[in-house]
Amino acid sequence: MIRIGQGMDVHRLVENRDLILCGVKVEHTLGLLGHSDADVATHALMDALLGAAALGDIGKLFPDTDEAYRGADSILLLKRVIQVLREAGYRPVNTDLTIAAQKPKLRPYIDQMRQRLADAMELDVSMVSVKATTTEKLGFEGEEKGMTAYAVCLIESL
Ligand code: MG
Repeated sequence: MIRIGQGMDVHRLVENRDLILCGVKVEHTLGLLGHSDADVATHALMDALLGAAALGDIGKLFPDTDEAYRGADSILLLKRVIQVLREAGYRPVNTDLTIAAQKPKLRPYIDQMRQRLADAMELDVSMVSVKATTTEKLGFEGEEKGMTAYAVCLIESL
């Protein structure tokens, strides 16, 4: 059986935080604020995977009231989500992510991001797509107040 999932996430941009996207540290003057490493793209992906299996969302799996997840590496959380999926009888097939960010230019990091996610999901990199778009300076992404990430995925029965 094949099932589809979608996820989205938003984090605020602030000073004095690292910018981590798809497990890759991106050079920038601002970073995303959050309880974990605030990797908005990996969070959207995890919600897509959990949604595909109707297993809730990352807020349920990794509550932000839990000190265990303070500053957590979202790639490790993604590995845990893959394990939860496997226990439910599913594995990921492919995924496609879009990151809405006005700055910085993400193109130089895209291949490294795809590889990081593919490794965590135990997939070939050809099954992982990461894209970036600006919002033409419109909205909170365009005003550099935050970033949004959208993810869709397919999962299949083991
Ligand atoms: Mg999040």
